[in-house]
Order: sequence, then C-alpha cells, then structure tokens
Amino acid sequence: MISSFGPDLDPTQRERVDAVLRFASTRLSPGARQREAEARFDRKLWDECAEFGLAGLPVPEAWGGSGLDAVDTMLVVEALGKACEDGGLVFSLCAHMFASAVPIWRSGAPAILERYLRDIASGKLLCANATTEPEAGSDIHAMKASARRDGDGYVLDGTKCFITNAPVADLFLVYAKTDPAAGFLGISAFLLPRATAGLRVVAEHGKTGLRTSPWGSVYLDDCRVPEASRVGPEGAGAALFGESMIWERCCLFAYYVGAMERALAGAIEHARTRKQFGKPLASFQSVQNRIVDMKLRLETSRLLLYRAGELHRQGKRCDDAVAMCKLWVSEAAVQSGLDAVQIFGGSGVTMETGVDALLRDAIPARIFSGTSEMQRTIIARMLGLS
Ligand SMILES: Cc1cc2nc3c(=O)[nH]c(=O)nc-3n(C[C@H](O)[C@H](O)[C@H](O)COP(=O)(O)OP(=O)(O)OC[C@H]3O[C@@H](n4cnc5c(N)ncnc54)[C@H](O)[C@@H]3O)c2cc1C
Repeated sequence: MISSFGPDLDPTQRERVDAVLRFASTRLSPGARQREAEARFDRKLWDECAEFGLAGLPVPEAWGGSGLDAVDTMLVVEALGKACEDGGLVFSLCAHMFASAVPIWRSGAPAILERYLRDIASGKLLCANATTEPEAGSDIHAMKASARRDGDGYVLDGTKCFITNAPVADLFLVYAKTDPAAGFLGISAFLLPRATAGLRVVAEHGKTGLRTSPWGSVYLDDCRVPEASRVGPEGAGAALFGESMIWERCCLFAYYVGAMERALAGAIEHARTRKQFGKPLASFQSVQNRIVDMKLRLETSRLLLYRAGELHRQGKRCDDAVAMCKLWVSEAAVQSGLDAVQIFGGSGVTMETGVDALLRDAIPARIFSGTSEMQRTIIARMLGLS
C-alpha cells in the first residue's frame, strides 16, 4: 500500500476510519457511476449515511452528533474520499454539516437548537446554505437579499443561486441584509423551513462534476419569518458565514485528499499492467514522472490539510493555513485528475471507468467555498500585501 504522511491514528481513530472505509466501499460506491450519469441524488443512501453518523460529525454528542474536532472530522472525510466513488453524495453531506449544521450549532438560540439541531445532526432534516446571488458570488457583501423588520419578525426578499441541496432540503440557512449601510455588520442569518410561504426552489440540472449532489435557485418573495428564526445576533451573519467557511475549507477538502490517493493507486496499477511497445507503461520515465508528481501533490495536500486541522483543533487562528489548504488541495486535485486521465489514455475519458471522476469533481472545488483567486487574496493579505 502507498505510505502516507498523515497523522498517526490512535486505536479509536483507526477503528472509526476502518468502519467508514468498509461502509463507503460496500454501501456507497456500488452504483455510483450510474447515479452520476443520471445526476441522481439518492435520499435512501443519504438516510443510510445519516444512520451511520455521517450527517453530524462536528456537532456535539449532546445534540446527537459525533462531537469530532476538525482533525477527527478530516480523518472520516478523507476515508470517504478513499473509498466512496460518489463524490456528490459526500459533497452534499459536507455542505449540510459545515455550512449549515456548524453555524446553527455555534450560534443558534436555545429554541432553534431544541427544535432543530438533533434532527439536523441525525440527518433527518437536510440543510442548505443560501448565500450566493446572481450578482453576488465572491463579493458576498454585494448581496441584495433583504430582511426588513416588520412587527415582531422580518420580511425576506431576494434570489439565491447555486445552492447545494436546495431541491431536497428541509431547511435553508439564508443570509440577507438587515442593514445595507452597515457593511460587514449588515448581514444576518435566518433559518427557514422549506414550507415557509414565499420560499420557492427551482432545481438546476447538469453540473460538470459532483453530479449526484442536487442544487438550485432559491427565491424569497415576501417571506415573513418570526424573530426567533434569526441565527445569531442581528448583524452577525458575515462572521457566522466566515466561521462556517473555515470548517468547510478544511474538512470538506479532506475528501479530495482521499480521492487523490484512490486515483494514485489506480494510476500505479494501470501503469504496471498496461503494456505498450512490449513494456509496461510504468517503465516509461514520462509516465513515472507523472505518477511521482501525483504522489507529491497527495502528500503536500495531506500535510497542509492536517496542519490546518491541528491549528483549528487547538483553537488557534488558522485563516491563512486553511486558505492555503483549500487552494492547494483543490488545484492539486484538478492536476492529479488530469494526470490520471492521461495515464489511462482513451479509457480515462469513458465515464463508466470513473477515471475522469476526480477531474470532474475537482473542477468545482476551485470555485465553491471561495474561489482559488479569493484564497490567494486572503493569503496575500496575511503577507501584508494589501
Ligand atoms: C458546486 C458548487 C456548489 C455551490 N454551493 C453553494 C451553496 O451551497 N451555497 C451558496 O451560497 N453558494 C454555493 N456555490 C456558489 C459559490 O460560492 C460561488 O460560485 C463562488 O463564491 C464564486 O462566485 P461566482 O460563481 O459568482 O463567481 P465570480 O465571483 O463572478 O467569480 C468569477 C471569477 O472571477 C474571479 N474573481 C472575482 N472577484 C475577484 C477578485 N476580487 N480578484 C480576483 N479574482 C476575482 C473569481 O475568482 C472567478 O475566477 C456553489 C458553487 C459551486 C460551483
């Protein structure tokens, strides 16, 4: 097996990771290619994942989650990357956990926690986070969605797009402006059940990768919500969103580290067995070099991932470590996905082999959770460049 530069696992972690590897390879990977071809989200598989405990990894045990810190969460998500060929399903689970369950757990008022958090952590209720708008992507402060005070509640209006899980979500964590003049302090978060009058979802179809993860647009038209639906204090939305992105930018990207290891193992196996010019591909130096580069990208990704996780676990400031991890892992996954395809030749671009899945699933990873360019902006700022 390929040696790894990941953390040494204690017996509890080893047992947990092995259980995830077994579950993912026996329950989640079978049929993945077919579901991907059909761009089909399978709620029954979601329920199985939820029952296994994969919908509430970082949520405290008192609320029905697993109470894992960032490093332990990464170990589980990396194991999914190694053994689960359904990248879209894992992406939906991660979006639910890191961009919705985490901010609700961290900032929800006791009444919200009591009413929803156990069902969110258990995966009975599926969440979507609605931040992006047609005119506000990287620049979330340009959002136009508004939450206007009205009596003892708010009225929400706006349009959100590219919302992961929207077509199947039971709850929406919606970000909207409560005070457009207040900048960073002008955004607030609200938790809206799907049945909220005036909330409408339009599913979008077809995505380059992560195809089994459904997404869509969310329209808010005169949505009246009680004050109790606000998550965190008024004006705390941007801070809440930032904290959730820290979790997402490190823990979700563990999936790509695991998937890169799977792609590397496949490339090595293929290069050893496929012969051209009477010799295995592995004997050609340009093929070897491509595989060596895949290995380098895998291990540098893993080092950056667990470095960010360790800082997060210790409660230390980790914005720059997390930005470097997100940027590096997503770019590395795209390049290693390309290399895997190249090593397989023609069979690398037939969808049924699944060789191209890493590449297709990694392309959106350079965009969601803040684009590669925005991660570079964060790192440049940390270096005192702006
Ligand atoms: C698979 C997927 C799932 C998603 N899920 C969700 C979700 O669940 N909820 C949600 O709210 N959103 C979601 N999004 C949306 C995502 O957050 C946005 O796509 C992302 O923030 C980029 O915004 P944009 O698409 O509008 O691109 P833009 O912001 O228009 O960017 C386009 C290009 O310009 C570059 N650019 C923009 N500004 C600058 C700058 N200042 N300096 C340098 N370059 C810049 C960008 O880096 C990018 O390359 C998802 C996106 C994808 C791909």
